[in-house]
Amino acid sequence: MELIFLGTGTSQGVPVIAFDAHECDLADPKNWRTRTSVHVAMGGARIQVDAAPEFRLQCVWNRVPGIDYFILTHGHSDHIAGMDDLRRFCDLRDGRALPVYSSEEGVGRVREMFPYAIGDRPKYRGYPAFKPELMPPHLELPCGTVRSFPLPHGEIEVLGLVFLERGTGKRVAYFTDCHDVSPEARACAKGADVLVIDALRPEPHPTHLSIPEALEIARDIGANQTYFTHMTHKIDHARLSRELPPRVAPAWDGLRIEI
Ligand SMILES: [Zn+2]
Ligand SMILES: [Zn+2]
Repeated sequence: MELIFLGTGTSQGVPVIAFDAHECDLADPKNWRTRTSVHVAMGGARIQVDAAPEFRLQCVWNRVPGIDYFILTHGHSDHIAGMDDLRRFCDLRDGRALPVYSSEEGVGRVREMFPYAIGDRPKYRGYPAFKPELMPPHLELPCGTVRSFPLPHGEIEVLGLVFLERGTGKRVAYFTDCHDVSPEARACAKGADVLVIDALRPEPHPTHLSIPEALEIARDIGANQTYFTHMTHKIDHARLSRELPPRVAPAWDGLRIEI
């Protein structure tokens, strides 16, 4: 199983436009954050989770070779805006529509924003083609299972995901853009090989987890390794890395881990 962190930044990214009070060292490339998304290779299949505004560049920089399934955690712009660039991956599938899984809210946003892409085949060669499906609680795929859990994120819910690779039994939990993690999601993630969790900034926020909150949940889940994602300019990679307990670390754009 392999994880590629395509982006680890909050909705504004880092550096922030027209802003000179960054609390992270911009000379360190690990503090340059595009909007959050992750690519999961498991059991021979490639699953893309979210498509940030920088999705095309993220795919080029990280040499993403193909996509078999797409999961949208929720319909916020920083997670959905890059979906048009999935057109290249549809082309590589000989025009077979890409399965797109999300919540009712997410599927609704996909239909509103990309009406020209809904269908079994692309309208014209080179167009994207999406087959939207409601994400089931257990998504059974030939490569493994993806469990999903609704998590609170302000006025909407986001899909928290737990990937279980068939054959190896490796397990990765991915909880971005959430203000809390439900007991059911924690139980499913307990002792996972890797936990990726929202850790926006040191201070509390109404719709995201802060660093102390994310740490407490990470302790409860007890993954072998935990990575923080969706981080603002207030998080300096080197400084936070020194402060965190063992087996917890901030992720960065382009980080690849073999599990
Ligand atoms: Zn977000
Ligand atoms: Zn969001």
